Amino acid sequence: MLGEADRLQRHFEEAATVDGLTGLRNRRWLDDAFTRQLDRATRTGRPLSVLMIDIDHFKSINDRFGHITGDHALVVIAQTLASCLRPQDLLARFGGEEFTVLLPGLETASAVSVAERLRAAVAKLPPLTGATATAGTGDHTITVSIGVATAMAATTVAALLARADAALYRAKGSGRNRVESETGARG
Ligand code: GH3
Ligand code: MG
Ligand code: MG
Repeated sequence: MLGEADRLQRHFEEAATVDGLTGLRNRRWLDDAFTRQLDRATRTGRPLSVLMIDIDHFKSINDRFGHITGDHALVVIAQTLASCLRPQDLLARFGGEEFTVLLPGLETASAVSVAERLRAAVAKLPPLTGATATAGTGDHTITVSIGVATAMAATTVAALLARADAALYRAKGSGRNRVESETGARG
């Protein structure tokens, strides 16, 4: 009886860390994983890079193609991001149309290369075609903007996320479908 209760408890704990739409890990899991990864990076002196990924003009995808297509785009983008990462990289849905990747051991230049690979893979997805739109005309190419930040010395999860977010906002400001880091831009 106790065994069954334990099994159920583990099942629900595991389910509580998974995003229902995309199947990726959710924010709750990320907060925990992020703290542990940052502790480890600080202890070992190895870098930890973080990518903040935000879908470009996602509101207009919903507006033009409907929320079902918007949801489907989220799933396809989640799968595309996952397929581009190494087993040790950690991917989560941060919330809404934003994703976070933790890259243990990668310094900024390597993290920017990974981000650029992710950006290019999403931009290569088949566009949403004007024929399926419920409003407006023309195809819609799905793109993401990505901000990169790296913890090289002791810092906090909140500070590192804020730096990645600041880089992301620069990527949005300089035209979207771009990667920006604190040390320069690409893509
Ligand atoms: P930007 O390029 O500046 O990021 O523009 P944006 O339109 O992507 O950004 P904004 O924050 O204005 O809109 C985000 C939209 O994402 C609004 C919200 O309705 C939509 N969204 C968030 N979560 C979901 C979801 O689970 N499914 C769907 N279909 N839409 C979602
Ligand atoms: Mg957003
Ligand atoms: Mg967006």
